[in-house]
Amino acid sequence: DPHGRHGSTSLLSSQETEKQLSGLAGPTVELPDRTFVDLFQERARGCPDAIAVEHGTVRWTYRELERRVNRIAHALVEAGVETEDVVAVVMDRTPEWIAAALGVFTAGGVYLPVRPDFPVERVVAQLERSACAVALTDPGSEALARAASARLAAPLTRLSVARVLARGGHPEPPRVPMTPGQAAYIYFTSGSTGSPKGALCEHAGFLNHLYAKIEDTGITAGGGDVVTQIASQCFDISLWQFAAPLLMGGSVRIVDTRTQLDVAAFVEEIVEGRVSVTQVVPSYLEVLLTHLEQHPRPLGALRSVSVTGEALTYELVQRWFAAYPDVQLVNAYGATETSDDPMHEVLHGVPEREFVSVGRALRNVNTYVLDENLALVPLGTPGEIAFSGVCVGRGYINDEERTREAFVPDPFRPGTRMYRTGDFGRWLPEDRLEFLGRRDAQVKIRGFRIEIGEIENKLLTMDGVREAAVVTEGDTSEQRVLVAFFSGSEEVTAEGVRDFLGTVLPDYMVPTHVHRVDRLPLTENGKIDKKALARPAAETA
Ligand code: ADP
Repeated sequence: DPHGRHGSTSLLSSQETEKQLSGLAGPTVELPDRTFVDLFQERARGCPDAIAVEHGTVRWTYRELERRVNRIAHALVEAGVETEDVVAVVMDRTPEWIAAALGVFTAGGVYLPVRPDFPVERVVAQLERSACAVALTDPGSEALARAASARLAAPLTRLSVARVLARGGHPEPPRVPMTPGQAAYIYFTSGSTGSPKGALCEHAGFLNHLYAKIEDTGITAGGGDVVTQIASQCFDISLWQFAAPLLMGGSVRIVDTRTQLDVAAFVEEIVEGRVSVTQVVPSYLEVLLTHLEQHPRPLGALRSVSVTGEALTYELVQRWFAAYPDVQLVNAYGATETSDDPMHEVLHGVPEREFVSVGRALRNVNTYVLDENLALVPLGTPGEIAFSGVCVGRGYINDEERTREAFVPDPFRPGTRMYRTGDFGRWLPEDRLEFLGRRDAQVKIRGFRIEIGEIENKLLTMDGVREAAVVTEGDTSEQRVLVAFFSGSEEVTAEGVRDFLGTVLPDYMVPTHVHRVDRLPLTENGKIDKKALARPAAETA
């Protein structure tokens, strides 16, 4: 560090340093020396007849779920899965998918969710990067897994979950060593250089987050909670949505994507399903609320709505409490690399000051606001948000370079890892954190995290494309869409670009609008002028 200020606190008074390092940290709460695996087993034995999973008309009790989990875990061990081996779960969101995820944990493996509708190229890249040798499949994903397998250099053992479950029996869970420091799961997030990054998190951080969610959403043991499992399986928030209720004897209610798209059906699901806890991204909260304002109705047992992934606006909070003063909102803030959310703001009403914070650090989490030399900035000054503590994941799987950039030694707590979020924020007088946006070109579209650079890099690999730039259009999160501009050979059409991108990227990363231009506009210093592109895009909308 040329300034000699690396991790320094010298600009601050000792009192302010103390406050930032301790006063604003989350409470220290001892974690049990156990993992989700045996805590789930214990719960399942304690309430075998309670409903664990609901999906449409399907109901599984804890006994029925546990039985399936153990069968899958045994099959994985027989297939050679050992501690920290990565197991891909290429399945749709069904009760079997939840059993498969729990089966991977129970076998001591690392859960890697893969969406069956992903392009095969992306699946291959994820399996390769994570050195994954075993995949669990369902009938809808077997062809994809076979195609991926054919393109992999190393062999991939494919296990059909339906076939594993058909074997019957009620085995005890396999005896495998489980420790809190063990790797638990990987979620791939978009990477600006063109290839996704696999964020690897550990059991301790996973459990710590579950306890925080349980506390702040008020899930009690045997309290009959019904929690929606609504998020896509490639989104880390999908994990607590099933794991938290299963830790407490509550019930997971899987809500299909089809139901979500039909907001009236989603409301019906909440009311009829006696849902007590749900979670949505802000753009969906807006759609839901608009519907409810037009068709007001009580929401039954609903008690807590977590909102996450993007900034929650004051206007939405006002509208929510005007309609549902008794249903709390939890603004949950974090990144996949930090075991989902290290911060919560629990709202029981409209905040006095006209804006919404991302709240306070959760248990066993330290939140810092830093300058570019990783020194603490004075309270109230904007800086980069960083986290340390049990929530910080181990890094990006088999990617030392990108791990080193984002996961650095915590300068204030030697021996611990710190994660640099790339988000800007500042501490507020009420000891809460304000989120101020991104340092780079990462964007959120309906909650999905997207690196603009990844789309541009893919577009540049298309034959005949010379230049490429992608911008976002739309002021609010629900209006926001991706717009691509390209120049190149006459043969390349906008439709062709969309088709091509659809074969290499997930649907939510394919730009809604594609425009051909003769040349991309440049700034004075020769960079692509994104501001100039954003303007006409907004005007032609
Ligand atoms: P998560 O799954 O927790 O949403 P992602 O890894 O998909 O995490 O995305 C993390 C990024 O999303 C954060 O770095 C931040 O930019 C944004 N983000 C997440 N939650 C919030 C929030 N409550 N308010 C504002 N931005 C958020």
